[in-house]
Amino acid sequence: MPLDDLILGLQRALDRLVRRLRLGRPPSPGRRRLLIVQIDGLSRAVLEEAMARGRAPFLARLVHQRGYLMTPMCAGLPTSTPAFQLAAMYGVRPDIPGFHYHDKRRKSDVYFPRGGDAAHVEQTQAAGRRGIVSGGGTYGCVFTGGAASNLLTFAMIKRPTGAGLVRTASKLVVIAWVLIKGTIVSAVEVVRALLRMIADPVSAASGSWKWLAIKIGISVWLRELFTLAVAHDIYTGVSTIYINYLDYDVAGHAWGPRHPRALQALHRVDASIQRLWRVLRRVPEHRYDLYVLSDHGQAETVPYLKVAGGRPIEQSLFDDFFSPDLTAAGSAPEPRRVGLVRGFEALRAHRAPGFFQRFVNYLEQDFPWVLGGTRSVREHDGIRVIAAGPNAFVYFLETEEPLPLERIEARYPGLASRISASPGIGIVLARSAAGPLCFWRGARYGLDALGAGPFAKRPDLERIVEGIRDLMAMPSAGDLVIYGIDAPQGNVSFVTEVGAHAGPSINEMETFLIHPPGVSVSTPITHPVQLYPHFARYQADAA
Ligand SMILES: [Zn+2]
Repeated sequence: MPLDDLILGLQRALDRLVRRLRLGRPPSPGRRRLLIVQIDGLSRAVLEEAMARGRAPFLARLVHQRGYLMTPMCAGLPTSTPAFQLAAMYGVRPDIPGFHYHDKRRKSDVYFPRGGDAAHVEQTQAAGRRGIVSGGGTYGCVFTGGAASNLLTFAMIKRPTGAGLVRTASKLVVIAWVLIKGTIVSAVEVVRALLRMIADPVSAASGSWKWLAIKIGISVWLRELFTLAVAHDIYTGVSTIYINYLDYDVAGHAWGPRHPRALQALHRVDASIQRLWRVLRRVPEHRYDLYVLSDHGQAETVPYLKVAGGRPIEQSLFDDFFSPDLTAAGSAPEPRRVGLVRGFEALRAHRAPGFFQRFVNYLEQDFPWVLGGTRSVREHDGIRVIAAGPNAFVYFLETEEPLPLERIEARYPGLASRISASPGIGIVLARSAAGPLCFWRGARYGLDALGAGPFAKRPDLERIVEGIRDLMAMPSAGDLVIYGIDAPQGNVSFVTEVGAHAGPSINEMETFLIHPPGVSVSTPITHPVQLYPHFARYQADAA
């Protein structure tokens, strides 16, 4: 949009001033800067289809005409944003079994959108390493990666140096423009939706309102804000930038990874990346290397409620396996407050560094919930069940350490195999003296036998074995880890969503890394932990 260019021009003039004040110099000779663009939730298969069908035209040109290379990447297990980002940003295999889980040692749940949880995980698991975004900026990420500036962290306003003020003013120009443009585009979308409803009230089902909400919240406001803020960072020469576009993942959760609305969201993300590319070309002296990657894909799922008789997984487990004599009485779901309210409280209490990162996480995970989905925790009689997506965790709270299957089955004989044979269940994972075990359709498999059972047709069997080994080595993974992926009824999610991820299906695990020609990446990339040394080199450069 030409007006965007005008605003960026104005911003650039301010930035020149910033540069004169000794902010934003080019890197020292021979050094390069790093821009990582993450397209959340995009599998390699969907990207390739989208590129072939003109739904990601810029990325297609980048790869087919500009010589950028697309390298396959395996996301590891779980296929979940926080696990991916901690591994890529710090080079550690994290203890993050999902987006929502329980930590038996701390006796508390970890739920990433909640103020402080992501910060705690990052502090305790980054192992004192230098994050790949140290001194840079992160946008829409779960973790900071060491970034000094998360989006809209106004700490700099408190240091009113001349340069700081000019820099702040420059950023405010961008924010003001996003506010104006966002308001106009939102209004246009609302009017359009109203007109559609007047014209055709019958087909104006709730789905289109959902779409409108997502389009305005994420695809107008957040994407614009991120894109312009990153453009600003590129002009000022921020050494490393990690931006995560959430549009596609959120639309994919709501409608499915190949739904036209999800592909439309991808198309808009593609256009935003093109805008960043243009900015990069305007400041070649800043010498950025552009990487485009995805943290995981999605599987198309059917809801557990539909295939298992209308009860959520946490209820089925208690009704049918743990305490058949108990009814729902006495097993109240965890009281939880509406996410945003908590978030704003945290902001007011000044204990939410990177508050807007958390806000983004609310959108990522709470959208299905806000729009009528469910997410549940149930605890009774020392057993806590958390349903987090296509994955559910069962924790026996009597021990702080993971409880091995031998002890679980002393109390509940044949439990894992019986759960694995029940409707809507794919695999059940447990730990045993002989290593991790996988139960599928009522039968038990050691990791060396997976190829003879649940993963018989998978060419990436080795990656699955490694992923399950990693997952069950995490102290915070449930004593039982239950997946709805590959149930007899298809892929199943335990929460209300169409697209789901965390599990081992091929589209969840297989993603990509697009990188510049002339940059050598060691392949194959079998786990995001391998990205760390590659990206950390830019840190050494920036120092
Ligand atoms: Zn997601």
